Amino acid sequence: MSELSRREFAKLIAVASVASGVPQTPTTGRTIGIQVGAVSFVDEGVESVLDRFQRDANINALFIATFSYGRGIAGRQVPGQPLPDHGKQEYDAAFHGGNFASTHGNYYQHTSLKKIAAPDHPGFDVLASVLPQAQSRRMKVFCWYEDVFRGDLEGIEPLQEVTLSGKKAGTLCFHNPEVQGFWQALTEDYLRSYPVDGVMWGSERQGPFGHAIGAAHGGGRANPLEVTCFCDFCKREAKARGIEVQRAVEGYTRLAALVRDSRTANRPTDGSFVSFWRLLVKYPEILAWEKLWNDGQKSTYANIYQLSKSIRPDIRVGWHIWHNNSFSPFYRAEQDYAEFRQYSDFLKVVMYNNCGGPRLVSFVDSVSRTIFGDFPPEAVLDLTYKMQNYREATLTDLPRKGLSADYVERETRRAVAGVSSPSPAAKALSTPKIWPGIDIDIPTGKDEKKTEPQDVREAVRAALGAGADGVILSRKYSEMRLANLRAAGEALRA
Ligand SMILES: [Zn+2]
Repeated sequence: MSELSRREFAKLIAVASVASGVPQTPTTGRTIGIQVGAVSFVDEGVESVLDRFQRDANINALFIATFSYGRGIAGRQVPGQPLPDHGKQEYDAAFHGGNFASTHGNYYQHTSLKKIAAPDHPGFDVLASVLPQAQSRRMKVFCWYEDVFRGDLEGIEPLQEVTLSGKKAGTLCFHNPEVQGFWQALTEDYLRSYPVDGVMWGSERQGPFGHAIGAAHGGGRANPLEVTCFCDFCKREAKARGIEVQRAVEGYTRLAALVRDSRTANRPTDGSFVSFWRLLVKYPEILAWEKLWNDGQKSTYANIYQLSKSIRPDIRVGWHIWHNNSFSPFYRAEQDYAEFRQYSDFLKVVMYNNCGGPRLVSFVDSVSRTIFGDFPPEAVLDLTYKMQNYREATLTDLPRKGLSADYVERETRRAVAGVSSPSPAAKALSTPKIWPGIDIDIPTGKDEKKTEPQDVREAVRAALGAGADGVILSRKYSEMRLANLRAAGEALRA
């Protein structure tokens, strides 16, 4: 597709509005968003998907998965999970991913990663296909793109992180100028090629300390020798900060050994917590490297924000905040809402309560074998509840019950309060909107909590009741059952 100018788009939109007399979602001031991938529009048709969104759930904002190599937001249902009661009744076993809009080569001069066109739906540009219809209905359109790649892409190798053990990782390094160049290129491409209303970027990753100690759901599988990043760009940045690279490598190597010992149930003589803390005191470079990694991620937020505003000051820029924010107190400490004021118009804080149950159990299981190895898992769960101000189910009941709407309410209040307390550097900036991510049918394991309409109604009500400026139904339409989608609408109309 050739690059459409904003004027051409405006014309298309005007024609579409007049011709079809399509319903327009009334503007209520609240953003009621939904995450949706190209595959749903291809399978079910743009008009019928948008009709349903408006009719069933009062949706007024589309968060279209424009870029990802992950099926989680961009594909159909995860193979093995039950297919929902709409869309094509088969799995997309050949899912590939990439850029689901057109890629305009002129923007990608500062990165070797250029060939990113998703081959999944040949000839279908999701933004060009959805924008005219969406805008004629006054639905906002956000590009939703995430930090998820695959290793077999042409030109990706120079951008990849390097692990502690010296291997190339599947993830990209934020301190590598080509990686910053890539995100800048993609952002500029979206904003100059399409009249979108905003962008939302997400990076579900954490620094090497949290990663090494397995402080995440699914964290028990993390190999502490494969934490990142120790590439030349990171080493250069470390030197500029006065961090001794060799000491950091040594510290992380010892940390990896301690994690391995802890996991094999060799209780250190002085206990787990003391041994981990002792290592942090002996090697402050461990936390210095953790901060270095975090600063790289934050600079990506800041760079996307500044570039977007320089192209179009009215564009709305915000971030998907990873679910680990609800589990790991270490990761949570690094997500400072007040600091986000410097480069955010909105935050989609993930508050997936149903899958949150099994995920929290997985986090507890992981850290009760490392830094909290002195405690049984029940005690670690209790500690987590106390540190994070939750009142939820016992370890036995949690996988089946999930987290409650009360968790959504508490986390919404915390986020709203957090962004309202300005950091000194951001006094003059306006307060970012809080749009909690609401869980509708996010896959869980066998015998684990599944979403029911009542869960959705309660979660939406809890978020809005606690002061949220909207909600984003997640993670993607192609895995949602219709009764659960309609439940969101029922809560909004009540
Ligand atoms: Zn690096």
